[in-house]
Amino acid sequence: AIDEQQFVLHFQPQLDAEDRVIGGEALLRWQHPTRGLVGPNDFIRVAEETGLIIPIGQWVLETVCRQIAAWSTRPELAQLSLALNVSARQFHNANFIFHVISALEDTGAAPQRLKLELTESLLLDDVEDVIAKMNMLKELDTGFSLDDFGTGYSSLSYLKCLPLDQLKIDRSFVRDVLTDANDASIARTVVVLAQNLGLSVIAEGVETEGQRDFLIGNGCQAFQGYLFSRPLPLADFEAYVSARSSQS
Ligand code: C2E
Ligand code: CA
Ligand code: CA
Repeated sequence: AIDEQQFVLHFQPQLDAEDRVIGGEALLRWQHPTRGLVGPNDFIRVAEETGLIIPIGQWVLETVCRQIAAWSTRPELAQLSLALNVSARQFHNANFIFHVISALEDTGAAPQRLKLELTESLLLDDVEDVIAKMNMLKELDTGFSLDDFGTGYSSLSYLKCLPLDQLKIDRSFVRDVLTDANDASIARTVVVLAQNLGLSVIAEGVETEGQRDFLIGNGCQAFQGYLFSRPLPLADFEAYVSARSSQS
């Protein structure tokens, strides 16, 4: 698929509490010649197991950086942050830092616009190495969001050692936030935790006004989900942002 250039990125808008688009998340799709558009749940795991996640992840990184650079000359798009998902195996790879530096240098992308989404599974081994690498990337001025927060095994004491910028409330907690008291407390707790650690917080999988209102009422200021938009092909994402910025 890499050789045949069959991978594409879709972009899902991220909005603030005033409905302004503040960024997007790049999500990988495989444009398969006979199977059509294949989602990452059907191939990322195999890619991780085989090690192919390294070249695939590198392609995602370069494509995202190229996109950030391309948007930098377009006023309505230049301020957006663009998040990408980094697998634990990719992050642990000895060349990862080098790949990020090269992608930034080759494209001229502003590192402040690049946000790396990491998961708690990253912290399962060699935490010292993870912290050292994150600090190196932080020196470059890239951002970090902790994806699927609360679903993994991370020790809360690690949180204060990591140079994170954002916690991402997992979709599974957002889904039942209005019907399940436990999920509601977890979502509220993640917001408070982020506030106390000086981090921003974003909720993913927001599908209804009710969920959004609950989250806003509890201090969450950023949102992503089908309520606003599904992940979109590049041209549609750009049109979505243009339409929103001309409204305001
Ligand atoms: P994720 O990082 O948790 O990404 C969010 C997933 O939730 C996306 O699925 C997105 O389409 C979906 N989603 C967004 N809003 C809603 C909503 O309101 N309701 C529901 N039910 N779902 C929503 P997608 O695109 O199928 O990606 C699945 C997973 O594949 C991602 O989960 C991520 O872990 C992984 N992935 C995607 N792209 C990449 C990539 O470039 N590299 C790596 N390593 N993993 C990737
Ligand atoms: Ca993600
Ligand atoms: Ca997630």
